[in-house]
Amino acid sequence: MSGVSGVSGVSGVSGAHAAPPAGAAGGKAGPVAPKLVVLLVADQFRADNLTRLGPIFDPGGLRRLLQKGASAIGHYGQQNTYTGPGHALIATGSYGYLNGITQNKFWNQRSGRSESMLYDDNIKILGSKKQSADDDNSPRNLIGSTVFDELRLLRRESKVVAVALKGRGAILLAGHLGQAYFFSDQGEMTSSTFYMNQLPEWVQKWNSQKLVDKAFGTPWERLLPADKYLTPDDSPHESSLMGLGRTFPHPTTGGLPGPGPAYYETVAYTPIGLDAEMSFVRAALAGEKLGQGAATDVLAISISSTDLVGHLYGPFSQEYQDMALRLDRAVASLLAELEKRFKPGELLVAFTADHGATPIPDEVAENHMLAGRIKKDTIKSTVQKALGAQFGIQGEWVTALEDPSIYLSAKLIAQAKVDPLLVEEAAGKALLELPGVLTFVTRTQLLRGWLPPTDVATAVARSYFPPRAGDLVVVPAPFYFWGKYGENEKGSSHGSFYRYDTDVPVIFYGPWFQPGEFGVIEMVDFAATLAHALKLTPPAACAGRPVTTMLRPIQR
Ligand SMILES: [Zn+2]
Repeated sequence: MSGVSGVSGVSGVSGAHAAPPAGAAGGKAGPVAPKLVVLLVADQFRADNLTRLGPIFDPGGLRRLLQKGASAIGHYGQQNTYTGPGHALIATGSYGYLNGITQNKFWNQRSGRSESMLYDDNIKILGSKKQSADDDNSPRNLIGSTVFDELRLLRRESKVVAVALKGRGAILLAGHLGQAYFFSDQGEMTSSTFYMNQLPEWVQKWNSQKLVDKAFGTPWERLLPADKYLTPDDSPHESSLMGLGRTFPHPTTGGLPGPGPAYYETVAYTPIGLDAEMSFVRAALAGEKLGQGAATDVLAISISSTDLVGHLYGPFSQEYQDMALRLDRAVASLLAELEKRFKPGELLVAFTADHGATPIPDEVAENHMLAGRIKKDTIKSTVQKALGAQFGIQGEWVTALEDPSIYLSAKLIAQAKVDPLLVEEAAGKALLELPGVLTFVTRTQLLRGWLPPTDVATAVARSYFPPRAGDLVVVPAPFYFWGKYGENEKGSSHGSFYRYDTDVPVIFYGPWFQPGEFGVIEMVDFAATLAHALKLTPPAACAGRPVTTMLRPIQR
């Protein structure tokens, strides 16, 4: 796997791009290709944030995009609403069963361990001292093309640069032909040997400023007076991490006397991380001269901090609201800068999110609704006990638990000498006894097409990629979840096919789009619509259709 070198050092292309911008085209001629596409993905951002928080948003940020752009509610039609699958679906317009990115982590049969879905054994993260199975580092496991791969396939001089604090956020938006930059465990921005063997000079220069180290100890204060937020600051169900605490002002030292690993881990949960990311975005614009070449360039930004704050404090917390406000102001200031630099018709902006957020289950439970967390140990012991009893074989029936997949032992299934479906069903039926388990779908059911005619079965099937999926998929009831965040007693998560997790904002902005509100669209339509506006072939496995009502007529 060789690095992609076409992104930097573009030269010798001149005069090929004579088309004037939309404003100059006049008359009936539609807009031409933009110089720069900015894709903004808010990590964990529900559609209703725009209406609930709208009044405290900046008039120049998301509100401006909403007023001047084409907007809709985007619906994820697949079960696994996690960061990896969300970003993969945004970029490819395809469901996980085709793009292969169905969970954040999976049990890798070949290596015999749980790994990040984007872990790549042949690749190293630049500047990282140690690489673990949890680290994301290449798009190797992403199947098919992304919308920006299609752009680069057509015009290799187009540059595609993706930035996020989380590896998977940047890598999946960069696709196979772009370049991804993400935050390292050393407090710097980095990339992997998939893309390059050495960080470009502009990245090294940005890192040498040590902005994150300089911000050490700056407490996280509210942006607005406390009474402007929709909820009180403290809740006993909010979590904390390495000294961040539950209330404002949040100390940001990671419990250390100076910058170090624990501090770098907390950075992404605070405005220090967001500010660093947006500073790096500006460095990328200048360093790669984005939008200054002959072909359309892309800057894809996944804003990671909203997700981390949502996990710790929940989607209704003051902390989440404050981070959303900061995201909105970051959008406002970037937009103002870009609109000074680019004329109308040169800049296309798209905004969306990779998934929504579940309310903190313990708060929901206090309101007399069924809600809670399902523990991995409970799932494991329930399955072990049921299968041991039914098939008379004691042993490690559960190989791994990576939500929403349960991986069973192939060896013990073989020893049982029965149709695997019987083993899977016995495990599933036992789990139905647990509070919060709504239903289950098994590997054999999915492979044989024996699915009930329900929306949930369809959503599970769309998120099921057999080589990486488990033998059993657990479907929790609304307001229940399991997995990494189900193990905690506090905070929240996402990952279901319920509306709080599936519905996100979609905004397209620029003269290619018809301003207005366009109801609900499927998220697989996002890439199709973007591809259509850019006059590109849709991504290979795209399941969506361009939302033509959102588009202005294309110049033929
Ligand atoms: Zn996410």
